[in-house]
Amino acid sequence: MPRLQITTNSPGETEQLGAAVGSLLRPGSFLALRGDLGGGKTCFTRGVVDSLAPQSNGLVSSPTYAIMNCYPGNIPAYHFDFYRLTGDDDIAELGFEEYFYSDGVCIVEWSERLAELLPSDVLTLLFEYAGDDRRLITITGSGPKSDAVLESLAEKRQQ
Ligand code: ADP
Ligand code: MG
Repeated sequence: MPRLQITTNSPGETEQLGAAVGSLLRPGSFLALRGDLGGGKTCFTRGVVDSLAPQSNGLVSSPTYAIMNCYPGNIPAYHFDFYRLTGDDDIAELGFEEYFYSDGVCIVEWSERLAELLPSDVLTLLFEYAGDDRRLITITGSGPKSDAVLESLAEKRQQ
């Protein structure tokens, strides 16, 4: 499985990585963000939204209480946080599945809460604490769409 590992040394670097990933996304892209609280998932999302919907960027916060925030842009960005949900039953009941197969981009924090409902072709980003201001971010693809994003990101970083 193709994989890319990146260490960031500040919240700003993580946000920049989000912007780089965001610029490579297409309608229907799905970002599955995993890892601990404070890992940088919301920070990364800010960068993604900055690329996709620059007019909404200042507004990105953790949707822990709202569960989903929508940022209209050239491609709409749907930002989910499933921290408080227990699994597929909750998520199916709330009807979020329709967003997963829409023309927008889904960015899902705590995607590990999804089981069968997780689409098959997703770009997964695992955020791990590696020191006060350091985070290790491991990115993997799981199908043609997400593999293409991963490949373009790797090329972009080599330039
Ligand atoms: P999560 O959404 O994964 O719970 P957040 O993005 O909300 O995490 O918070 C990450 C926290 O870690 C913020 O307080 C941020 O300032 C801090 N931080 C320190 N270093 C980094 C880094 N390299 N990348 C991202 N966040 C960092
Ligand atoms: Mg968060």
